[in-house]
Amino acid sequence: MIAQSGLSHVSRRAAILALSCIVAAGALGAAPPARARATLVVTGGTVITMDAQRRVLSPGAVAINGTTIVAVDTPQAIAARYAAASVIQAGGTVVLPGLINTHGHAAMVMYRGLADDLVLMDWLQKYIFPAEAKTVSPELVRVGTRLAALEMLQSGTTLHTDMYYFEEEVAKATKEAGMRGVLGQTVIGFPVADAKTPAEGLARAERFMQAFRGDPLVTATVAPHSMYTVDAATLTATRDLARKYGVPLLTHLAETRGEVVESLQKHQLTPAAYLASLGFWDTPAVAAHGVHLSDEDIAILVKHRVALSHNPESNMKLASGAAPVTRSLAAGLIVGLGTDGAASNNDLDMFEAMRQAAFLHKLSEGDPTAASAQTVLEMATIGGAAALGMAGRLGSLEPGKLADLIVVSMDSARQTPMYNPVSHLVYASRGDDVRTTIVNGRVLMRDRRVLTLNAAAVLADARRLAAKVRAAVEPQAPQSSVAR
Ligand SMILES: [Zn+2]
Repeated sequence: MIAQSGLSHVSRRAAILALSCIVAAGALGAAPPARARATLVVTGGTVITMDAQRRVLSPGAVAINGTTIVAVDTPQAIAARYAAASVIQAGGTVVLPGLINTHGHAAMVMYRGLADDLVLMDWLQKYIFPAEAKTVSPELVRVGTRLAALEMLQSGTTLHTDMYYFEEEVAKATKEAGMRGVLGQTVIGFPVADAKTPAEGLARAERFMQAFRGDPLVTATVAPHSMYTVDAATLTATRDLARKYGVPLLTHLAETRGEVVESLQKHQLTPAAYLASLGFWDTPAVAAHGVHLSDEDIAILVKHRVALSHNPESNMKLASGAAPVTRSLAAGLIVGLGTDGAASNNDLDMFEAMRQAAFLHKLSEGDPTAASAQTVLEMATIGGAAALGMAGRLGSLEPGKLADLIVVSMDSARQTPMYNPVSHLVYASRGDDVRTTIVNGRVLMRDRRVLTLNAAAVLADARRLAAKVRAAVEPQAPQSSVAR
């Protein structure tokens, strides 16, 4: 009975609709039903939404209007509802949210491969800090960040998190590339290229935060380097700055065992507990590394809603250890994924970071079910967005969210056959498989061609500047020992 009356209701509505269509057609000629406007539709690929239900549409389509995703549905449904100004045919590919890198030092691509195979403190104190003291300049940061942005767009990163010097140059280069950035001006306890004292660094950070306040692509913030390079008063001053501007505080935390031992000797507290004792965590923050965290430390971070940025490749290369990611996730910690700077990785490919994260935890925990493909893909997308306090706007493909997405080819020998797209993204794909990168509704790379940066000029500038870096670090080295 009920079903029957339902049917008659539907058929009555259909009759009315048909009648009104005939009337409309009679009045206007055969006008199609009005469709909503979309500036861009990406259609035909397997769409991995990373929404709350983790829906996968195969095939699916994403409709974008301006900077925002307006619909995610089947290709037929999107075609029926939207008139697109531009269409990207994505058949045979996987479409997913742009990858979010939660920790890095973009301009350090200029020190890529300069000093490898060293322990962290030797690497930092004998090579990286001296190299930076002699060569960091607005020009190096500008040229380096352009190079990093080129690499990131080519490998599907749509948002990068940065902690460096002359951060306004990072911001300008990031915007020039069309990327999104959460960018922290470094504050550190010794004289550096852009500030002679921590007070100068703080003033510089605030000027930077004012200059880019409200920017659609750049979140300008402050980055106290670590609890072992910044004094207590300066640490709390950075917290106050981040709070004043409503932006996440960025810092390094418990990267090495030595840092923890030194903190226990000096403060009788672990780094996480020491920072808690200062009230440093009383504002949203992202702590990079967290390799050496006790269960008590994890509880402190969870309590204060501090997010962790996990950097497996840097942690392995510097033999810092394996961060307790499985324990952290189980305790309710928000975990994002990062590459760290290219001096300790040595590339910015988030696909590689995902794969290495999965492998590292399987090996270190002696458990192949640890850090599944789904878990690390979450860390690189919605988890990263949550870590940065942006999960309401980024990290998944859903109506109302900002249109940051990538199209990944799945047609190489290495990716054939494909049974499970999430498995392939983590275990078989590389940054080079990214075909198209879209940020804020704008196509930044189409079919592997970056549209916002002149790739040849970016590479030439970097090579030219590398000669200066080499000369500054190795002044006595013969110019060409091989030729002689
Ligand atoms: Zn770092």
